[in-house]
Amino acid sequence: MKIDLTKIPPEGKELDFMLPTEWWKPDSDDDRIVGLERPLSTSLRMYPAGKKMVVEGYISTRLLLRCDRCLEQYGWDLSAEFRISLSLSPFQGEGEVELQEDDLNLDFTDGNLLDPDQVIREQLILRVPMKTLCTPECKGLCRVCGCNLNISTCSCPVADRQVLFNQ
Ligand SMILES: [Zn+2]
Ligand SMILES: [Zn+2]
Repeated sequence: MKIDLTKIPPEGKELDFMLPTEWWKPDSDDDRIVGLERPLSTSLRMYPAGKKMVVEGYISTRLLLRCDRCLEQYGWDLSAEFRISLSLSPFQGEGEVELQEDDLNLDFTDGNLLDPDQVIREQLILRVPMKTLCTPECKGLCRVCGCNLNISTCSCPVADRQVLFNQ
């Protein structure tokens, strides 16, 4: 779904929709966001402000994250509000317009077509904590034998077993 930003009326436009759990495709096997545990609901409101288009939104879902220490998946509730402003591309005939520093919208828009999925994807990535832990006490994996120390205790010497995370 693409939204033509030049067609947004001055009073704005609202859009509510759901993204199914299959929507999230991890970039790679070690992507920290493994998937959505339940469908993502979102509401967006777009309105023009000067030469910009403001997009305000609310997202709510439960993500499946991968623990940095033990690599197991765990559920994490997310509900967040956001607000971004996008610059419209110059209309034909308007000539070259210099890009401003905050005009880093190129991922979201193709010409003046906004891809709301990209905006939401970006928000999810921004909201996930820098460090993802299934529990604050997660013991991680033994670095000798690889067993999950939350579930079992291996016979490796304790000194060697100390996992790499001093994080
Ligand atoms: Zn863990
Ligand atoms: Zn071990």
